[in-house]
Amino acid sequence: MYNKQVTEIKGTNTVEEVLFQDGTSLKVDGIFAEIGAIPNIEIAEMLDVELEGGLIKIDDDCQTNIPGIFSAGDVTSKIKNPLSRQVTTSVGLATIAALTAAEYLEARFTTK
Ligand SMILES: Cc1cc2nc3c(=O)[nH]c(=O)nc-3n(C[C@H](O)[C@H](O)[C@H](O)COP(=O)(O)OP(=O)(O)OC[C@H]3O[C@@H](n4cnc5c(N)ncnc54)[C@H](O)[C@@H]3O)c2cc1C
Repeated sequence: MYNKQVTEIKGTNTVEEVLFQDGTSLKVDGIFAEIGAIPNIEIAEMLDVELEGGLIKIDDDCQTNIPGIFSAGDVTSKIKNPLSRQVTTSVGLATIAALTAAEYLEARFTTK
């Protein structure tokens, strides 16, 4: 439900209903309080990492525009659908980022 502001949570022993500012209400069994999450991209901004829509831009290998800087998870613009920002998708990207970082280090620092 978009553009709704919760004004009251009602229930006797457990949560039963939420009331909205516009006078409507919804019967519910529980509530997750989650709103206004702001991605923590300060460190990326400090390092001049390219952003996309306020999130860290990465390629398919989880590399940013700066060689040697990799990113994964919710803070990246890779996951377009907010509903897909889940532990599983973040862990998947983190796996790719870690393997790409290992390859990067190996290529640079392995003596032949
Ligand atoms: C209320 C709520 C319920 C959720 N329920 C589910 C669920 O049931 N199932 C599911 O799959 N997903 C769920 N999610 C989403 C899931 O939590 C995220 O998608 C997932 O945690 C993202 O993982 P991440 O590693 O990208 O980021 P995070 O888990 O946020 O980890 C980022 C870490 O980096 C640290 N950090 C930030 N800046 C710095 C810095 N400068 N230096 C060092 N460390 C830093 C933070 O402290 C944090 O520990 C839920 C999220 C919320 C908010």
